[in-house]
Amino acid sequence: VDANIVPIAGKNKGDMNLIVLLYDITEIRRLEKVRTDFVTNASHELKTPVTALKGFSETLLDGAMEDKDVLKQFLEIMLAESSRLDLLVNDILELSKLEQKQVPIAYEEVRVKDAVLSTFKLVKQKAEQKQITMEFIEEEEVNIEADSGRLKQILANLIDNAVIYTQAGGNIVVTLKKKEEHAIISISDNGMGIPEDELNRIFERFYRVDKARSRNSGGTGLGLSIVKYLVENFNGTIAVQSKAGLGTTFTLTFPIRHF
Ligand code: ADP
Repeated sequence: VDANIVPIAGKNKGDMNLIVLLYDITEIRRLEKVRTDFVTNASHELKTPVTALKGFSETLLDGAMEDKDVLKQFLEIMLAESSRLDLLVNDILELSKLEQKQVPIAYEEVRVKDAVLSTFKLVKQKAEQKQITMEFIEEEEVNIEADSGRLKQILANLIDNAVIYTQAGGNIVVTLKKKEEHAIISISDNGMGIPEDELNRIFERFYRVDKARSRNSGGTGLGLSIVKYLVENFNGTIAVQSKAGLGTTFTLTFPIRHF
């Protein structure tokens, strides 16, 4: 708590009254910390691919490029690191644009089923490579008022994660139902799950249960922060349930009407 004490003259000469103003600054401090942590983490994440690019190019220039095989191998690594840098910068920019409300969001009638099925198409190849099946169960047909591109972005992030964090041969089930004036979409997988003590941290920026695994699969650790931001923009909620080794379910709820 911050306090401001303002002395003011009293009614009688020589009297002194004090006005004490109390401000609750815990929220401001928390937001400041979130911001500085973000800059620190982002710089750290960006530094990794930059260091690799610098190291490999220096080694090549120091003579390693004379060997054609080494040259090819190093260039491939450099290309992969540049792609990673590109992904990171895109996600960081996306998050900052969202926060500054620079992203136009449309409100149109969206058939949730269409959004789910077109998202399945996007991740189909990746899922097939791991023999992961994807199923959609529409208990009730529901349309919501939202931005269809943004809804697909939310679903794509969650379904893509489900594919990444599920072992070969697993399955993913997306269910749609209606409860009162809300659409409820759940995305379940029978993958590796998330340890209970880390569950409430996965929506934090750059938080990853297993950094190496996420990195290898092209993750930036920002996906769920972006998802949460978007969901809340549509007055929706996102919740997660998981059992390590058994699987994970993300549940989204959206009001059917925006107003
Ligand atoms: P990433 O780019 O690392 O996937 P996200 O923000 O999308 O970042 O997710 C944060 C972390 O949450 C992931 O690194 C992973 O550890 C965990 N996670 C997300 N979805 C799942 C899932 N379906 N199953 C298991 N773990 C998951």
